[in-house]
Amino acid sequence: MTFSPSDLSTADKKHLWHPFTPMQPWCTEDHEPLSLVSGKGCTLRDQHGREYLDGNSSIWTNIHGHSHPTIHSAIQEQLGRVAHTSFLGFTHPPAIQLASELVGLFPGEKLTRVFYSDDGSTAVEVAVRMALQFWQQTGHPERHVIAAFDRAYHGDTLGAASLGGIPLFHHAATQIGHTVIRAADIEALLTLSKAEISRIAAVIIEPLIQGAAGMRLWPSGMLSALQDWCRQHDVFLILDEVMTGFGRTGKMFACEHEGVTPDFIALAKGLTGGYLPLAATLTTERVFNAFLGMANTFYYGHSYCGNQLGCAAALASLRVFREEKVIEGLSAKIQRFTALLSALQAMPQVCEVRQCGMIAGIEITNPGTELLGSKICLAARKHGLLTRPILDTLVLMPPLCVTDAELEQMTTAIRLAIEEVCP
Ligand SMILES: *Cc1c(COP(=O)(O)O)cnc(C)c1O
Repeated sequence: MTFSPSDLSTADKKHLWHPFTPMQPWCTEDHEPLSLVSGKGCTLRDQHGREYLDGNSSIWTNIHGHSHPTIHSAIQEQLGRVAHTSFLGFTHPPAIQLASELVGLFPGEKLTRVFYSDDGSTAVEVAVRMALQFWQQTGHPERHVIAAFDRAYHGDTLGAASLGGIPLFHHAATQIGHTVIRAADIEALLTLSKAEISRIAAVIIEPLIQGAAGMRLWPSGMLSALQDWCRQHDVFLILDEVMTGFGRTGKMFACEHEGVTPDFIALAKGLTGGYLPLAATLTTERVFNAFLGMANTFYYGHSYCGNQLGCAAALASLRVFREEKVIEGLSAKIQRFTALLSALQAMPQVCEVRQCGMIAGIEITNPGTELLGSKICLAARKHGLLTRPILDTLVLMPPLCVTDAELEQMTTAIRLAIEEVCP
């Protein structure tokens, strides 16, 4: 069966249900879904051959650009051997090599164990499940509460969503299984009583910047203060670096900015360079050792844990970081990005620009009740930019391979789109 572009559009509306997408306007007759058919570097091409810059790295995943030859050939070579084998009671070279390399990215040899899963939500759930089970089997069953922050986002599966602090996304998933207490900030944790603290198994945080909350920055020093608080009370620190990992903040991981080493770190989105779904939760020997007795085994896993193609892609992505000196090249790019963003900040329609490395949130002043973010992003398409807003905050998070010229095209497209929608 072959599909013409219009057959595809009709069949999409007839059979598909898209994530985070209001489906009523999607399915109307005059809406033609944008179908992305190919990509190279920061550029994506649609069904009509029109080109766009990938302004949000295909929802925060892509790192080195699309169709990168190193990642392509690594996936192809792996495909020539085998695509997937079970990781339950078996192992394979790409998973072992990747674990060794991941562990090597963190200083102090504290995070020494790697547990694979499929996406950010599962990487977070692995950390939470390990933290809860750890205290149960080490004589502290009273430690069964997870502390999470207001406006946090840790994923959409029920357990991950129960940690989230954004009512729009999490309203149906707030009372599941474990108990979650929510804190506005570190000061709120400092006011907890000894009895309350003694019930906390772990604190989870998006370090430096909360993504889905609209790219909101934590005050500088907050992360290291949180680490001190956790150590003082023997509470686990879980870092959700699903968005911030792999160079987005200007360093390989956000925790490096404040010299923090957590007890668990969740990695996903950029792990494979944005090519395949693969996630990893790293933890310590202290945690691992508590699971050694037969009765203490971590009975948890997914069918595609440690997928071989995903591990091969992740290894290739780390190779690109080394070969192309990606991190070393970031500070100049970030400076250029800052300069371009400050021109947007000067627009009367923009109330605030928030930036953390290669991540930016551009918040639009909205005097009315109708959301403007999605209208502006739609207008930006005509100027060759694809991105997705969070309410009235426009997100720019280009692949790290973005050139100065592309950065300028992106911010120009945003400026023209803002002027068009909010004259
Ligand atoms: C995207 C995201 C997740 C969820 O990852 P999925 O791969 O979508 O399940 C979790 N935490 C943070 C900080 C994220 O940005």
